[in-house]
Amino acid sequence: MEERDFFDERPESRTHTITCPHCGQPGEYEVSWLVRRKKAQLPRGADDRDRARFAKAQSYMVRRDDMLGCKNIRCRKRFDVTSIQSVAFI
Ligand SMILES: [Zn+2]
Repeated sequence: MEERDFFDERPESRTHTITCPHCGQPGEYEVSWLVRRKKAQLPRGADDRDRARFAKAQSYMVRRDDMLGCKNIRCRKRFDVTSIQSVAFI
C-alpha cells in the first residue's frame, strides 16, 4: 500500500503575511499548498504493516509556491518563500 492511499489530497491556498527581503515591506500573499488529510479509515486490503504505518501517519501539507512577486509597486522583485516551512503538520 502506498502512502497516498492513506490520505485525501487536495490543493488549497492560504494567506500568509510575508516580508519582502528586498524592500522590507510586509504584505499578505496567497500561497498554494497541497493538503494531505489522513483518511478516517484505513482503506480495504491493508495488512498489519499498513495498519502500523497508518496509525503513525499524520495529516500534513506541502508548500507548492517557492517564489512570490513583491506587491510593493516600487519593488516588484521576486523572492524565495523561505520564511514559511515547506512541510507543515496540520
Ligand atoms: Zn519588495
